[in-house]
Amino acid sequence: MNSRHGDGRGRRRGGGGRGGGHRPEPEPLRGVRDDARLSEELLRMDGASYGRYKSLRGDWDFGDFTLTVQRVQADPFAPPSRVRVLVPDSGVPESAWGDPVRRRATADYLGRRAHRLLRGSLLRIDTGGQEVIERSSCRLTDGGIDLRIGIDLPGHGRRIDGRTAERELCRTLPDLVDGLDWEEIDVEEAVAFADSVADAVTLRSGLAERGLVAFVADGAILPRRSGVSDEPMTRGAVPFSSPESLRVSVELPHRGTVSGMGVPEGITLIVGGGFHGKSTLLHALERGVHDHVPGDGRELVVTRQDAVKIRAEEGRRVERVDVSPFVRNLPTGADTGEFRTENASGSTSQAANICEAVEAGSRTLLVDEDSTATNLMIRDERMQALVHGDREPLVPFIDLVRPLYRDHGVSTVLVMGGSGDYFDVADQVIMLDAYHPHDVSERARELARARTDADFTPPRARVVDPASVDDTTSRGRGRIKRRDTDVLVFGESDVDVRAIEQFVDPGQITGAGLALRELVRGGHLDGTRTVGEALDSLERALDGEGVLLLGADFGGDYVLPRRYEIAAVLNRLRTLRVLGMR
Ligand code: ADP
Ligand code: MG
Repeated sequence: MNSRHGDGRGRRRGGGGRGGGHRPEPEPLRGVRDDARLSEELLRMDGASYGRYKSLRGDWDFGDFTLTVQRVQADPFAPPSRVRVLVPDSGVPESAWGDPVRRRATADYLGRRAHRLLRGSLLRIDTGGQEVIERSSCRLTDGGIDLRIGIDLPGHGRRIDGRTAERELCRTLPDLVDGLDWEEIDVEEAVAFADSVADAVTLRSGLAERGLVAFVADGAILPRRSGVSDEPMTRGAVPFSSPESLRVSVELPHRGTVSGMGVPEGITLIVGGGFHGKSTLLHALERGVHDHVPGDGRELVVTRQDAVKIRAEEGRRVERVDVSPFVRNLPTGADTGEFRTENASGSTSQAANICEAVEAGSRTLLVDEDSTATNLMIRDERMQALVHGDREPLVPFIDLVRPLYRDHGVSTVLVMGGSGDYFDVADQVIMLDAYHPHDVSERARELARARTDADFTPPRARVVDPASVDDTTSRGRGRIKRRDTDVLVFGESDVDVRAIEQFVDPGQITGAGLALRELVRGGHLDGTRTVGEALDSLERALDGEGVLLLGADFGGDYVLPRRYEIAAVLNRLRTLRVLGMR
């Protein structure tokens, strides 16, 4: 790409700081600011110094829409410039935006279309993968559309390429707006998209009253194309088919009657030989907290919205979490009612993950043996005989999983192919055999042994110090950004998010960072509320305002995170301080 050939001297200076000795920035252009003027100015700027692009900032009236140039990159090598396109009337009928579910779905549909229409241009719009989640890049207002788009403003080295810029902003953009008009789109497809999402929402919200934690429809395609693709497996996928004993039928508003496997509350074990599809089923349940696009194969695989995947996560930080149900007398003599460490072990990290999930409000835990600490899951008789109770600080999950459910209503779905010990505590056991599920609960009960539970006292709730959740850097500026899908940079902290498996969209990582900022800025985390109460308060605000509450001023794309992922990021912040426990 020619425009990328800088001469080296023109590059950004170290750190990209604003201060010191730069030429003053050009004033925004005055006078008439319509599309004809924008076209004229861009052509006139051709060959001028790149910094002149800054004079475009502000609103441009295109007649049927307004273009707002929000941020202009300082040079061709900086992150893309940001524009907003507000179309007050694009003909979207009220039936498509009247309720919040259809509004989210239709916006998502239009965002995907916008993404396709912009292929091959310099304009970039963020869009989703297999899940349909509220995002900042494309929103529906009442009858209108609000788009946030990135553009690499074109240059020949450090000079403005005005012709290309004119083509992108004055032709591609109006074509996009035309292409999103309700008259132009495949209305049947758009309506079917929203119907499918609405059905999933109905299905999910009906789980609790049926006493279920999840539902997997007959015919669903669970396996994915590969370990790095979230698209459905196309060849050789065995469609899901429920065991007769667990089959339930549900009436949905659009699709009518559907049947599938209901996973009841309580303790559900998924067993079976290696490579028989256990993790694939659990993974589908993890994702079932979100709605999926038509054609995904998991449109009717839904899980309670509060389901949290639990795993071991060696090395994570833990800040004063009450892990005492799982961890008693540590060799260090540390108080496990207020456990803190800069470097948790496999077992203590998993214990903290469980206690934090319950603290954040989850009542559905999803666990896969593939990613757990064995010593937190089971302890067999021979090991108990060798290492006596008073030398072993850990109370294994198997002794707590029943009281968790019985006394606190926390259900668990657990994949466990390697040990039959959990037969003793399971309410139902599903065996996968060559990807076909069978209900083997009866047989497992015959093999079960009596077992004495431990006590689960709910972890005490923490009140955290809002001052310890600060996105300002040592230079005094806010910094929230994502590095790949591994790290959230929040102020001076790097938060490792790799183990937060239910981030399903990279934009949610940024969204969670912005949510931390909003927790403090919006007064939700006020030094008196507990973490759970602060999340309740933020959620209420989000319900009213939508995703833009998190970052109307933010110069990038972001996606709505769940409260459990917001809590997960908060809990991993290396600066977090707890003021007290309740
Ligand atoms: P397990 O956890 O039981 O060892 P996995 O869930 O990891 O097994 O699945 C093993 C392999 O089988 C994976 O490559 C997965 O994509 C594939 N697979 C899972 N479910 C199905 C299915 N229903 N049809 C076809 N292949 C499947
Ligand atoms: Mg597995």
